[in-house]
Amino acid sequence: VVAKGVPTRSVETTCAYCGVGCSFKAELQGDQVVRMVPQKSGGANEGHSCVKGRFAWGYATHKDRVTTPMVRDAITDPWRAVSWDEAIGFAADRFKKIQAEHGKGAIGGITSSRCTNEEVYVVQKMIRAAFGNNNVDTCARVCHSPTGYGLKTTFGTSAGTQNFKSVEKADVILLIGANPTDGHPVFASRMKKRLREGAQIIVLDPRRIDLVKSPHIKAAHHVQLRPGTNVAVMNALAHTIVTEGLVDEKFVAERCEDADFDRWRAFVAEERNSPETLAERIGVEPETLRAAARLFATAGNGAIYYGLGVTEHSQGSTMVMAMANLAMATGNIGREGVGVNPLRGQNNVQGSCDMGSFPHEFPGYRHVSDAATRDLFEKAWGRPLLAEPGLRIPNMLAAAIDGTYRGIFVQGEDIAQSDPNTVHVTAALEAMDCVVVQDLFLNETAGYAHVFLPGTSFLEKDGTFTNAERRINRVRPVMKEATGLSEWEAVSRLAAAMGYDGMTYASAAEIMDEIAALTPTFAGVSHARLDSGASLQWPVNAAAPDGTPTMHKDGFVRGKGRFMVTEYVATDERTNRHFPLILTTGRILSQYNVGAQTRRTENGRWHAEDVLEVHPHDAEERGIGEGDMVSIGSRIGATVLRATITDRVPQGVVYTTFHHPVSGANVITTEFSDWATNCPEYKVTAVQVTKSNQP
Ligand code: SF4
Repeated sequence: VVAKGVPTRSVETTCAYCGVGCSFKAELQGDQVVRMVPQKSGGANEGHSCVKGRFAWGYATHKDRVTTPMVRDAITDPWRAVSWDEAIGFAADRFKKIQAEHGKGAIGGITSSRCTNEEVYVVQKMIRAAFGNNNVDTCARVCHSPTGYGLKTTFGTSAGTQNFKSVEKADVILLIGANPTDGHPVFASRMKKRLREGAQIIVLDPRRIDLVKSPHIKAAHHVQLRPGTNVAVMNALAHTIVTEGLVDEKFVAERCEDADFDRWRAFVAEERNSPETLAERIGVEPETLRAAARLFATAGNGAIYYGLGVTEHSQGSTMVMAMANLAMATGNIGREGVGVNPLRGQNNVQGSCDMGSFPHEFPGYRHVSDAATRDLFEKAWGRPLLAEPGLRIPNMLAAAIDGTYRGIFVQGEDIAQSDPNTVHVTAALEAMDCVVVQDLFLNETAGYAHVFLPGTSFLEKDGTFTNAERRINRVRPVMKEATGLSEWEAVSRLAAAMGYDGMTYASAAEIMDEIAALTPTFAGVSHARLDSGASLQWPVNAAAPDGTPTMHKDGFVRGKGRFMVTEYVATDERTNRHFPLILTTGRILSQYNVGAQTRRTENGRWHAEDVLEVHPHDAEERGIGEGDMVSIGSRIGATVLRATITDRVPQGVVYTTFHHPVSGANVITTEFSDWATNCPEYKVTAVQVTKSNQP
């Protein structure tokens, strides 16, 4: 007899929350998880964990889980529980009818950064091969799509340059638009350890996050910029580096395209890019900007880490390229301790992008217009493939309102809550003839669905996640699927019901074998290799059989590094007398994204509602006291939140999290988006805040 709570077996797997990708041992008694123990052997976490990975796994067996497929003719009808065959047949019939009446391009789908590489791969394959179009996009559209665009343009590949361990060699860290203490806690601990050892940190953030000042840590500089002026800051830093002779001329001459560098150098040297000219717009003293630039260029190894405060702007892609410019100009690429490092939000945002989730790219970031790549996939998949990119999420939604796009497969993403301008999103969903949601719970999007295919939690999945350092981690089934079918099997069966028989896999390992055969950066990856203890960071191929912890070592993936001119263009989202404050958003440690999982765990106790941070001056002007309910309105919509008064935010800026549907922060966020990728400008919304009568 084993005492209650004492584990009898364990399974090694990977946390399903953030892009750090911590390894855990799930300890079980029978088929019940007793606890999650962080693994010392985990390449990303080395035995550490945070409150989410350690404790917030109870959602996997929460009573709200829906484990039976369901259908309904209209979204006003009650759900009807049906067999897998009936649900898949129902979805296929509707999709086929839409295509017969409105053309092949009238349907598509969205992949999820919460799902495994293998699950994402089969969804994009179903859309390209079975639906016959490229209308596939990913939830990374609304977070890190500018990272993909910016880093591919400048360096040649859409990924961060380092492994996490690299921070241990950094002498100065430039942290931009990221709050790792809350968003990436285990990596934050590694960074803080390095800071305690003497490395310096420059924080670019409108908000005074704890890395600006906390016990044992004090930032060398806090560039407390006005939201929306990132690119102006980078140009001011670059101006200082260029005009004060701080460029690493040897690195640039050897590693970068001459003409592009000359063009960039001349551009940033212009007086309009000087700290003195830009200071007022940025809201930071010119001397602070100059001092930050000098420190970054001269302190030794300079490493850039960044988050969604970089990408979720109308100039998100420009900003990513501006960071790449700065790293190249100072020679901070291609060795340990340096680099340009996106802190990816979701567990598999890197992997979902790698797996061909964008409408213009096959797996491995190869453009659909490339004839040789298309030929490779056509031969392997046995179907003709389109050379034109498909629709992005915002285009799908707009086309739905126009009536030309009428069916969507949504894998593990709650677009009705997470995408900007909720009213527009729900109107688009409501206009469609077939919305299929594959998820754990009846989320907000499922409220507009006709078919619900129950998804599996990370404790039931078999496959891989790829973390922010390109490390491919195994996710192993800890318990049997509560749904009776894995997600990749459900998708494969839907593809078959649509008339495509090229997805008859026996296992997730077999899917990875196909990925490896068709994707050069994954050529040396297999479940067997990972199960034998290999910890691999892509590219893994003949040139790098054991993976690539540091990229662009002897040359950039594109050959020579490419400097891009990064003109600062102010966002169209402007404050005025009706909307005088700027709302910006972020996360808190205990919760995760829209809270679908964490709110269904014990973590719910620690952050029961989203609150609005208001500067004391702005609060006093409006008669708002600590804990008052306030109404917050933008040009798009309005919602009500509880206020907390704090000088963590500067005057003129308010801040909230978006973990609870009731507060609906995205009811008010703008429709402006990044010029290159359509990533929404979540970080800048002009608002007014008034005291609410609501108790
Ligand atoms: Fe999970 Fe991220 Fe926490 Fe690691 S840091 S335990 S991956 S949420």
